[in-house]
Amino acid sequence: MSSQTPMLEQYKKIKKEYPDSILFFRLGDFYEMFYEDAKIASRVLGIALTSRNKSKKNPIPLCGVPHHSAEPYLAKLLKEGHKVAICEQVDDPKPAKGVVRRKVVRVFSPGVVLDSEHLDSKSNNYLASIYLGGDPLSNRDQESVYGLAYADISTGLFRTTSLDSLDALADEISRIEPKELLLQEEVSQDDSLLSSIIRKAELLITPLNSWIWDRESARELLLDHLSTRTLEPYGLEENPEATVACSSLVQYLKDTQLEDMPLLNDPHLYQKSDFLIIDDSTKRNLEILQPIRGDSSEGSLIWVIDETRTAMGARLIKEWLNYPLIEKQKIEERLDSVAEFKIKTSLSLELESALKEIGDIERLIGRISTSSGRPRDLASIRDSSHFITKIRDALGDADSRILKEIGRTIDNFSDVKKMIEGTIVENPPASGRDGGIIRDGFNAELDGLKSIRRDGKKWIAKLEANERESTGIGSLKVSYNRVFGYYIEVSKINLNSVPERYIRKQTLVNAERFITDNLKEYEEKILGAEDRIIDIERELFDEIRKRVANEAERIRRTSSLIAQVDVLCAFSRASEKNDYVRPIITDDKVIELKNNRHPVIERMRLGERFVPNNIKLDPNENQFLIITGPNMAGKSTLIRQVALTILMAQIGCFVPASYAKIGIADKIFSRVGASDNLARGQSTFMVEMVETAYILRHSTEKSLVILDEIGRGTSTFDGMSIAWAVAESLHDKGCRTLFATHYHELAGLALSKSRTKNYNIYVKNSGDNIVFLRKLVPGAASHSYGIHVAKLAGVPEPVIKSARKILSNLEKSQSELRNSILGGQTSLFKQVDENKMQEEHPIVTEIRELDVNSMTPLDALTKLAEVKKTLEKT
Ligand code: ADP
Ligand code: MG
Repeated sequence: MSSQTPMLEQYKKIKKEYPDSILFFRLGDFYEMFYEDAKIASRVLGIALTSRNKSKKNPIPLCGVPHHSAEPYLAKLLKEGHKVAICEQVDDPKPAKGVVRRKVVRVFSPGVVLDSEHLDSKSNNYLASIYLGGDPLSNRDQESVYGLAYADISTGLFRTTSLDSLDALADEISRIEPKELLLQEEVSQDDSLLSSIIRKAELLITPLNSWIWDRESARELLLDHLSTRTLEPYGLEENPEATVACSSLVQYLKDTQLEDMPLLNDPHLYQKSDFLIIDDSTKRNLEILQPIRGDSSEGSLIWVIDETRTAMGARLIKEWLNYPLIEKQKIEERLDSVAEFKIKTSLSLELESALKEIGDIERLIGRISTSSGRPRDLASIRDSSHFITKIRDALGDADSRILKEIGRTIDNFSDVKKMIEGTIVENPPASGRDGGIIRDGFNAELDGLKSIRRDGKKWIAKLEANERESTGIGSLKVSYNRVFGYYIEVSKINLNSVPERYIRKQTLVNAERFITDNLKEYEEKILGAEDRIIDIERELFDEIRKRVANEAERIRRTSSLIAQVDVLCAFSRASEKNDYVRPIITDDKVIELKNNRHPVIERMRLGERFVPNNIKLDPNENQFLIITGPNMAGKSTLIRQVALTILMAQIGCFVPASYAKIGIADKIFSRVGASDNLARGQSTFMVEMVETAYILRHSTEKSLVILDEIGRGTSTFDGMSIAWAVAESLHDKGCRTLFATHYHELAGLALSKSRTKNYNIYVKNSGDNIVFLRKLVPGAASHSYGIHVAKLAGVPEPVIKSARKILSNLEKSQSELRNSILGGQTSLFKQVDENKMQEEHPIVTEIRELDVNSMTPLDALTKLAEVKKTLEKT
């Protein structure tokens, strides 16, 4: 055991430098993990936990993974949010005296994953960094500016911006959904600050030392990284906070990737206000990238419109959904291209078949730029070039600006293709370790060695024939195995015919194996050639890889153009498939939709034909629409489909309607009342109010707000009052708003607010039954139809009967009650009354909503006393 102590000492020393990483400690053919690391890894990876020093008092927990197949294990650990430091043996271990030197060569973390095989090809994998200023914990005032930078090292994407509030910073972080966030150490220790910035738990926080955040050295570092003397061209001289965020990110990559720094594009500065702003809850409520329930995209907007054919396109469509446009001209340009594809069917078919063949060149070139690049990556770049040429040619006579420009400028890197063709074999192996990569005729020495290897086989065959003849042993065999090398095998019965020059090597049950001097000599020559072939192939491959890596910028530019073509083509395909129409885009505030549908629900085929609706919003008379109707009528669906339609238009896609005129929105807000918000079961009224307050602070007259049952998370009185006040405020601000509510009392708002209109989703009442017609009609709903809905839902008939009786009693007492409460005053209820609305007293609602079965007699008495008290007060 004492001989192992120095190694463990070495282990501990290295581990100390990487306390937050799981250390993959190279020991021969394995990466071993010790102590806590071993326990974590064995749990996460489901591999056996053993121990060193079993016999001793303090056994050391240990587990390991084979180094040549470590990648899936590594990927799993990263996926679970761990960091992994790879520690290699520096010296050749064979002649080692004492402990082999070891060092950490790279550190991977959830935000720093390069291997495209372990990344979701349809999503970016972001590492983000935020800078909260020199003294991050000081009181923040109006003037504060925060820096944000983020990058995907597998694609090279690198963006930065500055933001003027913590709210905005938090929104931007949830928009990006990074896997890992770098921040100042002080910030990481301040839980309340942290929770105001980060809304999601599944995000790895990596605090960095304070020197990394020093403004002056940050600028220097970025200048150095970009090999430039000014940050002016990047717009960063005037954005010191963004500069620090960029620089910390670059520094972190340098510190973790060491020799193998991945290729990053230059930082691109953007402004949040250059795009349509959709905050986190809106993104979730509208089910843009993911349905509220479920992990896959099925049931979300992207599920309907993602008809992309390349991984790059699949990532870009997400980007576009995250950053919709607000400039009319840019939107029109995309729409022009979609329209062109829609008309020119053969062009889009041609493109589609070429796109399907193009590899993920964006990520491939990223990997090729590091030592992880593999022979097959080069082959894939080579093969993609051919199809890029096809795309370029097909776009040769495109009319729309974007497509024309892409056709004119796209680089098919045919020189790179030729170079790879001339050097790498047609179907190279996956790994660069074992040769078989380089084409014959490229390197003379290699060719010579290969011919020795080939001739060697012939030579062996000849030797075998000769030996058979000279010994007379017909069954004699010359073979090879890894352990013993070449040998001559003679079966036991023929042993007496073996000549003296045969040297015994190994004895088997039925045979003996021999070697001869000239076989030995030849073996050395051949094995030498084999080793040398592999060495040369490795060297050459590395050289070719680097030559291709030098062209990375060009290839990346091409990949971004391919992604655009792909997405535009996808939009046209989705539009064709789902019968969408090109929207008319304007800069005014009118939204007019005819036969508008919900893009996702219409595709769900729930056994009911989707009923389209007409909707008009304008700043004069229809700015604020109150939409009432019973449960299940289709209110939520309607208001969401309007928001989704506008979003679709602003990413440049056609929309689910027969006619659409859309005044560009600067922000879309969507809120769902707490009790309606199934996604967050434990959501409280507080959350709802925080969110509502947020809308009131951030909306402008160009915003679109959709509110779904706001005010339900509390008692009816408060809830309705709040809903009313929120509605008034949004109305006065001039926001286009769709307000779905089952408080049909709110319809009264239309009386005092001129730009408010009442609509309801029509329900036909035939006796005890109701029929959902799904049609939006002017005017307010007059019933809640709660019992009807309950009946539809299969609540047993006796219960329905009894409910009806209770309701009628309640309604009777309620109207008496109301008369006594209202007297002659002009009040909320009076207004509603004038509107010939039928509504119920809040207390009635309260009673209606009581779950009597779960109450104890004492609860019931207390409640009764409470009710009485309330009535006495009014
Ligand atoms: P509400 O919000 O009024 O309770 P929802 O919008 O949740 O109602 O709609 C209830 C169900 O009715 C939805 O799940 C949907 O399947 C169906 N639905 C809604 N609108 C339509 C429509 N226009 N055409 C067909 N089915 C619809
Ligand atoms: Mg609803």
